Amino acid sequence: MHTHAEVSNSGSGSLSRELEEASSTYFKVDGAHRKPTLDEIGAYYRGLKMAAVVFTVDAEAATGVPAVPNEEIAEAARRYPDAIIPFASIDPAKGRAGARRVRELVERHGVRGFKFHPNVQAFYPNDRAAYPLYAAIEECGAIAVFHTGQTGIGAGAPGGGGIRLKYSNPMYVDDVAADFPGMPIILAHPSFPWQDEALAVATHKPQVHIDLSGWSPKYFPPQLVQYANTLLKDKVLFGTDYPLLTPERWLADFAKLPIKDEVRPKILKGNAARLLGL
Ligand SMILES: [Zn+2]
Repeated sequence: MHTHAEVSNSGSGSLSRELEEASSTYFKVDGAHRKPTLDEIGAYYRGLKMAAVVFTVDAEAATGVPAVPNEEIAEAARRYPDAIIPFASIDPAKGRAGARRVRELVERHGVRGFKFHPNVQAFYPNDRAAYPLYAAIEECGAIAVFHTGQTGIGAGAPGGGGIRLKYSNPMYVDDVAADFPGMPIILAHPSFPWQDEALAVATHKPQVHIDLSGWSPKYFPPQLVQYANTLLKDKVLFGTDYPLLTPERWLADFAKLPIKDEVRPKILKGNAARLLGL
């Protein structure tokens, strides 16, 4: 449920060089996987017999760097329909113009959901300026993914690269879930240091899910494992944050986690298949 397109067909990325270098160092990214093209992502997942939700992050207003075009991801999904499930990203700073793009991306390009990164996009998820975007997403039956918790982006750079952590407290997404009850929501990642907030929101709001990407399972907090095994067993989703973590590494560590046998297939496939209507 969580794979990044980090380079466009023209070779440009979505982050400034400073932010990109800091996040590579923080995650100790394997050089072979640092900047796969969309065709490399498609071929890699096809080789693994896996499908991946792929998106970019549009934070052009804050970073000045244009995102990987959403249409390129949608085109790649047509070349690799077995391996790439296209999501998009629209900077909330684009306001109503951004909201108008939602329908076109869903109806003409087959986009299934939209990724938000409140830290990089520098906005609170419950900012009313983003509401026209959510209204359009809800109306089209698409999914909204929010980065939550700590971020590796900007980590270690002077002043954290100007990135502020406050925006990614999942409690701000609770407002969005209350105001858009028809819009499925995914809280991305273990939400450190707000794990309990994420669990509270996901148990309270029927349409809120949690993806397990961005962290090796060996570092998951115990309460996340406990809820994944019980109350949230139908709402927790496999994700890696590839290329920052590979599926092989994530799955090897997940195998060692005390997750019940009957819950594993739900987390690894069933819950996502239901959410995506596959
Ligand atoms: Zn991510």
